[in-house]
Amino acid sequence: MIPRYIVDFAPAELDTVQTDMIIIGAGIAGLFTALQAAKDRRVLMITKKSLFDSNTRYAQGGIAAVISEDDSPEFHRQDTLIAGAGLCDPQAVDVLVHEGPDCVQALIQYGTHFDEEDGHLALTKEGAHSQRRILHANGDATGYEIVRALAEKVQSVPNIEVWDDHFVLDLLTEEGECVGALVQKPDGSRVIVRGGGHRTLLRRYRAAVPLHDESGGGDGRRHRDGLPCRRGHSRHGVQSVPPDFSLLSRRAALSDLGGGTRGRRRPSQHSRRALHG
Ligand SMILES: Cc1cc2nc3c(=O)[nH]c(=O)nc-3n(C[C@H](O)[C@H](O)[C@H](O)COP(=O)(O)OP(=O)(O)OC[C@H]3O[C@@H](n4cnc5c(N)ncnc54)[C@H](O)[C@@H]3O)c2cc1C
Repeated sequence: MIPRYIVDFAPAELDTVQTDMIIIGAGIAGLFTALQAAKDRRVLMITKKSLFDSNTRYAQGGIAAVISEDDSPEFHRQDTLIAGAGLCDPQAVDVLVHEGPDCVQALIQYGTHFDEEDGHLALTKEGAHSQRRILHANGDATGYEIVRALAEKVQSVPNIEVWDDHFVLDLLTEEGECVGALVQKPDGSRVIVRGGGHRTLLRRYRAAVPLHDESGGGDGRRHRDGLPCRRGHSRHGVQSVPPDFSLLSRRAALSDLGGGTRGRRRPSQHSRRALHG
């Protein structure tokens, strides 16, 4: 029998904090959603590390979006489904290929500086993509630049309160609806956070969870809560980047990190630091 909650706790004995929306995690998903949501409500962001430390910070290669006039959402869709080899959720792919360009514009408006070429966004053609549609920043420090821009923006929005070094132990549910979270504070004490007003708690359905920070905690919480987990128990949706360096020669690892098919990008200090620890 799987216990409903992972730790024993007595709600009546704990302080309760009320907010409009709770966001767990400060990667690109959490930061971006917080900025969108804070336009008309109070947002509490909870992260076990800091605003500037997540898997997103370490993402190197770039973001694929239909930017070029030679490209189209249909081309992007076909490339994605072929590369996905039957594992893609077609509805999710449709969202990706149609909403991606607007999201890229939003990232730019929030202050992200993508690399440019001749006054236009620089696009590379990589992997299974048939068109030039990969944006990057500072060569291969794309995630670092996105986190810098979004985190700085989040810090400037009065409607967003950030709790870093706080760990979400469990999601709290009532009648099958997620209403809050049990949170461990840095001093080890616990607090209940409830989403009021809009009664909203962002449940994170991560499409890809890199190994850097992956402990499977999110899946476990959703499973015990009986909340949907679209990835199920398959590891197919788990992205492991970068490849295990111990299995690669340093030369191969460097070419994997730094090379687009056009060979335009060179490994930066960022990726050299990743390799040398
Ligand atoms: C080295 C590397 C290279 C990559 N390269 C690329 C690339 O080129 N292109 C690409 O598209 N993707 C790439 N990725 C993958 C990409 O980084 C991730 O898919 C993306 O960043 C996931 O964003 P996210 O916001 O969902 O989660 P994350 O960035 O993983 O953020 C998760 C957040 O949740 C917090 N958290 C987790 N559990 C708890 C808890 N219990 N309590 C409180 N907080 C919690 C974490 O502290 C963190 O803030 C790469 C990843 C790595 C590591």
